[in-house]
Amino acid sequence: MNQATKLLCPRIAIAFDFDRTLIPDDSFHLLLKNCQLDVDDFIDNRVDPLFANGWDRYLAKAYCLVKESQQRKDNKITQSKLVELGKKLKLYDGVTSMFELLQQKVKGIDPEIELEFYLISGGFADIPRSTSIAKYFKRIWGCEFQYGDRGEIEFIKRQMTHTEKTRYLYYLSKGIEKDNEKDLIYNYQDLSEDKIHVPLSQVIYVGDGSSDIPCFTVINQYRGIALGVYPQNCTADEWKYLEKINYSQRVSGLVPANYQKNSQLIRSLLLAIDCIGKRIALRKLNLE
Ligand SMILES: [Mg+2]
Repeated sequence: MNQATKLLCPRIAIAFDFDRTLIPDDSFHLLLKNCQLDVDDFIDNRVDPLFANGWDRYLAKAYCLVKESQQRKDNKITQSKLVELGKKLKLYDGVTSMFELLQQKVKGIDPEIELEFYLISGGFADIPRSTSIAKYFKRIWGCEFQYGDRGEIEFIKRQMTHTEKTRYLYYLSKGIEKDNEKDLIYNYQDLSEDKIHVPLSQVIYVGDGSSDIPCFTVINQYRGIALGVYPQNCTADEWKYLEKINYSQRVSGLVPANYQKNSQLIRSLLLAIDCIGKRIALRKLNLE
């Protein structure tokens, strides 16, 4: 290797959205139901009026939930409600076995390549953090509540807007962990590759909807691989965000959210890993 050749980073990352990407539902709606609240009534009559009044949607949702909890004498909305929900969440078919399957694939290409998984959710992170698949993710990012002494929700301490999701792509790429999170990224383009944990060109992003579109743009900009998923009971042409996608946001594949062996999605992920793995192998030849 010399200064004329690109640096080698033997690492691949896959970042997933959560709601309707790894689970068939919206976890906020499930949380409302778990708190004996009517989803439509809560959104239409509590959240939407705030939104119309200039509130950010994520803050409005959290505020309404905090208000609801404060009004309750008992059966407060607590962290354990989010944990309980996470534990019983229904995942899409095949999700649980996917992580091992993809790890095997990477080992087959080159045992020196590391594969890491990340979750970037627009929902409340304590829900995915309590699922059986949480252990596979290096980091889980999402909205966060501040909890009181008895675990009741008090405030939203971190929100995850659609554009903010991209910030965490830069975080995972730079290798920003909890303890160095103050090292915010304003200069990503100018970072040399030896300062990067995993280049965005070696990141695969999987998402289902409008909250993921800014991430599709960033992934495309840096030549990573973006994959879109849609519910199994519809077709690619019925994907409801079709009209919203611009040229720069187009994904490499749009397939049903089915993670079972040999599904289009699993085959897409294996091919995406193959593509990036071969780019890494090409650079590695320089070291021989
Ligand atoms: Mg989603």
